[in-house]
Amino acid sequence: MPRPPLSAWLRAVAAVICLAGMVELMSRPTETTAQQPAATRRPPVTFDSNLAWDHLRRQVAFGPRPAGSAALNETRRYILEQLKKAGIEGRQQVFIAKTPLGETSMANIIATIPGRRRERIILASHFDTKRAPDFRFVGANDGASSTAALLELGRVLTSRSNELTIELLFLDGEEAVNWNWGTTGVDNTYGSRHYVDAARKAGTLAGIKALVLLDMIGDRQLVLRRDLRSTGWLVEIIWSTAARLGHAAAFSDEPTEIEDDHIAFLRAGVAAVDVIDLEYPQWHTAQDDLEHVSARSLQIVGDVILASMPAIEKRAVQP
Ligand SMILES: [Zn+2]
Repeated sequence: MPRPPLSAWLRAVAAVICLAGMVELMSRPTETTAQQPAATRRPPVTFDSNLAWDHLRRQVAFGPRPAGSAALNETRRYILEQLKKAGIEGRQQVFIAKTPLGETSMANIIATIPGRRRERIILASHFDTKRAPDFRFVGANDGASSTAALLELGRVLTSRSNELTIELLFLDGEEAVNWNWGTTGVDNTYGSRHYVDAARKAGTLAGIKALVLLDMIGDRQLVLRRDLRSTGWLVEIIWSTAARLGHAAAFSDEPTEIEDDHIAFLRAGVAAVDVIDLEYPQWHTAQDDLEHVSARSLQIVGDVILASMPAIEKRAVQP
């Protein structure tokens, strides 16, 4: 039987129904469009201690890296190269330091991850190693661990959108040039003292809302005590975040007092905290090597710092 012709009325009704269906299809997020973001959205970038470990290993492979050495130059090149790979702009801040061994050319590396605001939070680490007169000192923990973590933190933070600008600060000349440091009083922390002086002269000191310093964070038996000199609210945020993440064993509530690169910032009135493990029997010995550090410790500190960032950003801009 041939198909009966559709009446004009029926055609009109069909057209309306069809149009209504199309409008509904267009206005309602269909299953495909609703699922699309999930399918195309990348998982959030997280701290990868395998990558951090590789940065640590590479630094140790350069050998002893005291201020002014060729090996430290190589380390600096490595840091700049890795920053570039992560899409972070880094620059050198060259200066001449007056040391007990005469004038030494040093250079910090300043890398910027722009945020919505220009005020900045600095994450810092020294990358030089102690000049040891009688043995080969490679500083797997003291120098390499925190520098490695800083590079990895940069990779993660640059993938996020941050309220404040984040500055990664790689400091030269933290270690004393003279083995018996402390005797002269100023034979240490050359990089941080220069950085603070330069920021003061440039009028950018007020823009620094917080400094988080990492130092010796690779110890297999990680014990980070609360530094009494550090700014209270920064210590509180980081240590309570660590407890929340189940890392209270590594972030101990025991107090300690530390002289480190954060002191220059504190003296300039900048809120600052030092995250450091001084319970390290291999400190300033030939045994500060790959055997006495672990990727797991880097992971703990990386996770805790990243999880602390929102609270630090929030508190940092409070009047
Ligand atoms: Zn040291």
